[in-house]
Amino acid sequence: MEELSKLDIKYLHGVGPKRAELLAQELGIRSYYDLLYHFPFRYIDRSKIHKISDLRHLSENGEMPYLQLKGRFAAFAVHGEGARRRLNALFYDGTGSIDVVWFNKVKIIQENLHTDIEYIIFGKPAPFNSRYSITHPEVDAYKPGMETQGLTGVYNITEKMRNRSFTSRTIKQLMQNLLATLHHVNDPLPPEIIARYRFLALHDALVNIHLPATVQMLQRAQFRLKYDELFFLQLNLLRYSKSRSIKSGGFRFTHVGKHFNDFYHHVLPFPLTEAQKRVIKEIRADMGSGRQMNRLLQGDVGSGKTLVALMSMLLAIDNGYQACIMAPTEILAQQHYETIRPLASQVGIKAALLTGSTPKKERDLIHSGLLSGEIGITVGTHALIEDSVVFAQLGMAVIDEQHRFGVAQRAKLWNKNTVPPHILVMTATPIPRTLAMTVYGDLDVSVIDELPPGRKPVQTILRYDNHRQQVYRFIGSQLKEGRQAYIVYPLIQENEKLDLRNLEEGYKIIQETFPDYRVCFVHGKMKPSEKEYQMQLFVEGSAQIMVATTVIEVGVNVPNASVMLIENAERFGLSQLHQLRGRVGRGAERSYCILMSHMKISGSTRHRLEVMTQTTDGFVIAEEDMRLRGPGDMEGTQQSGIAFNLHIADIAKDGQIIQAARDDAMRIIEDDPSLSKPKNLKLARQLHFLYSRNHDWSRIS
Ligand code: ADP
Ligand code: MG
Repeated sequence: MEELSKLDIKYLHGVGPKRAELLAQELGIRSYYDLLYHFPFRYIDRSKIHKISDLRHLSENGEMPYLQLKGRFAAFAVHGEGARRRLNALFYDGTGSIDVVWFNKVKIIQENLHTDIEYIIFGKPAPFNSRYSITHPEVDAYKPGMETQGLTGVYNITEKMRNRSFTSRTIKQLMQNLLATLHHVNDPLPPEIIARYRFLALHDALVNIHLPATVQMLQRAQFRLKYDELFFLQLNLLRYSKSRSIKSGGFRFTHVGKHFNDFYHHVLPFPLTEAQKRVIKEIRADMGSGRQMNRLLQGDVGSGKTLVALMSMLLAIDNGYQACIMAPTEILAQQHYETIRPLASQVGIKAALLTGSTPKKERDLIHSGLLSGEIGITVGTHALIEDSVVFAQLGMAVIDEQHRFGVAQRAKLWNKNTVPPHILVMTATPIPRTLAMTVYGDLDVSVIDELPPGRKPVQTILRYDNHRQQVYRFIGSQLKEGRQAYIVYPLIQENEKLDLRNLEEGYKIIQETFPDYRVCFVHGKMKPSEKEYQMQLFVEGSAQIMVATTVIEVGVNVPNASVMLIENAERFGLSQLHQLRGRVGRGAERSYCILMSHMKISGSTRHRLEVMTQTTDGFVIAEEDMRLRGPGDMEGTQQSGIAFNLHIADIAKDGQIIQAARDDAMRIIEDDPSLSKPKNLKLARQLHFLYSRNHDWSRIS
């Protein structure tokens, strides 16, 4: 593969300098290797030609698949002027007719299509006025024998390429040229793995992914190439975590002492849930192992993560160390501090709050308290990782709402000691297991999958714009009972195209609708100090309504708030809706989440919103979200970039392959952590090839 990556694509037969430039610019394809790993994103079954009269039987949930029709064009007609010009035609096959529409290149298309030739068209029919229409189909003059072509790959190309007549078919042609030169490829997988899964040889897999001989061969090629991708990803992740734990070691917290026990027996105001107990056990075992802990704690909002964090910190203190907990915003840090300080003081531990707005004098006091070891638990924001903050002996660090912190910031925490502290990363964004394995492959994962007893699930309702007045009346009745309400908008700037309600305008309307109440106003582009001020108004109850964008998504705790109204809910992802909903239902009162949506939404959007009204289980929602949107858009994956870099594997669908690849990679790393045994040299070389070319995404904690 390395040799192929050094061959400039411009030398491939059929490319040349102009096309090479286009390929590089538009698709990032610069070498033979890049082209070879540009896989089709879809395959057309050329062997199947549908009848127009059968179309109405093919729809699934109101959506039609891409399909082929064979017939002739008639009745070309150009409508409209300038940018609105379009070409309409009738396409008929003897069983019926459909409408075909083009909006671009009207003239060229009309000149090239004839009424006396038979064509094959490929596209996705859409129902319109009790007829079907296809926009911009692929059109080929029919040649006998075409039906037997079987599967044909379709490649991603860009608008710019299309405008220069560089189509999917051009790529296919180039691929054929490339494959013709490719007689042998070095297979980096160990022979026993190839044997275990009866994999196609890499060469055959590459040929069949582009030019499948049969459906079965295509599936085998996909299996092999997905596995390859996931296997090397896991190998890389595990190699790092292994070498890190060997290199750095970790504090060994062997003992459960007075602080922990006192807290557990005398302070804890309620029994722990089974899930909390299990997770604390996992953390204890980890911190006692002699290796540095790097653990991700997932738990839905309200599942009681703070308590688990606190008890883990008590373990550190029992073993003679200090602990800290870092939150992404001042308000969150403040809230943690208010929870933790009284609990800690009951077992004789001094806690401190350190944020950007801590006054200088107090800050100096805290600095010296940390240095002397007098302060056991520090709660804070980024201020905690400044160089001036020096701990006597930091043994464990908790990071709350991990995805708001950058990689570099987290790494800074380790360097507070020569031996890195144990790290517990907490997130309320449930991540499907397969995604966690991929994105957080070098972290161990604990899950709190149970809410404390007696919670009333938030009642979620879907309402359309024409119910606005009723919804406002309902909010009014809640306010009257002394409750508070959030009203969330998707954006701050008006976006006519998407018909989003402007936040500012919404703010005005809300003020006018509820003249007797104070309305605060928060969005992401405000100055931090102003934002904190507005949030504080709501937290302390002097404002009853908060109009905001999703900046409130993370962690604010106002138990008195009982309504979450989400405007244009159709524009939010499921996980985001779930996060927003988690802001209410934190007190004893019944709480409500109202999803406001446009009347005109597609079936799949309606389905998405209905998922919200049917379940409050964050993991169910996360799985569904990933299924609907794909892993690349999932919260928490952006900064890692990994989900984007996958060419062929799909985290939402390939869970079993991920698990198998991870197990195999684990076995190899356990046996040979640095991949230096002779039999693993090929693996080491392939890893170097794959990961030295890209950014190194693996160090995420
Ligand atoms: P989150 O996981 O969202 O951070 P918190 O730690 O803030 O959740 O806990 C939410 C609320 O649940 C807090 O008021 C906390 O005191 C309470 N809580 C935590 N654990 C339990 C439990 N085992 N039984 C009853 N209430 C609990
Ligand atoms: Mg929390």
